[in-house]
Amino acid sequence: MATNRTFTMIKPDATGAGNTGKIIDRIIGAGFSIRAMKWTQLSRQEAEKFYAIHKERPFFGELVDYMTSGPIVAAILEKDNAVEDFRTLIGATDPKQAAEGTIRRDFAESIAANAVHGSDSDENAHNEGFFFFSERERA
Ligand code: UDP
Ligand code: MG
Repeated sequence: MATNRTFTMIKPDATGAGNTGKIIDRIIGAGFSIRAMKWTQLSRQEAEKFYAIHKERPFFGELVDYMTSGPIVAAILEKDNAVEDFRTLIGATDPKQAAEGTIRRDFAESIAANAVHGSDSDENAHNEGFFFFSERERA
């Protein structure tokens, strides 16, 4: 079922570099409304669970190390065509391949430390929002 919501995280490189506010401005400026948001930090166990889909990939250990290295901001966003439009706004996984004007092009440090997460499907957007937010927070 298509929905108008997606899920994002501002990752530790971006929170650590003081780019949280600028990235939130970009997101709102692109027409997304924030339905839930929290500043938090992932434990190792939580990061392994969140990224379980990638556990066979060679970068999994490094990804978990990185995602637990500092605070993140998790958020549920709303807009028509949210999942696809947000992936366009953030750009390619590797900031060197990301289009001009995208969040990763402007703020990411590397393919691993790439500033933001964006859900890749409606189903994952739902599951990822569910992972971070209680029922009343997701209302
Ligand atoms: N990643 C990495 N090395 C790679 C590919 C991905 O460290 O070669 C990290 C990066 O932080 C990325 C995350 O793993 O955002 C999830 O990978 P995915 O392929 O789902 O990219 P995304 O959907 O975030 O663009
Ligand atoms: Mg992905």
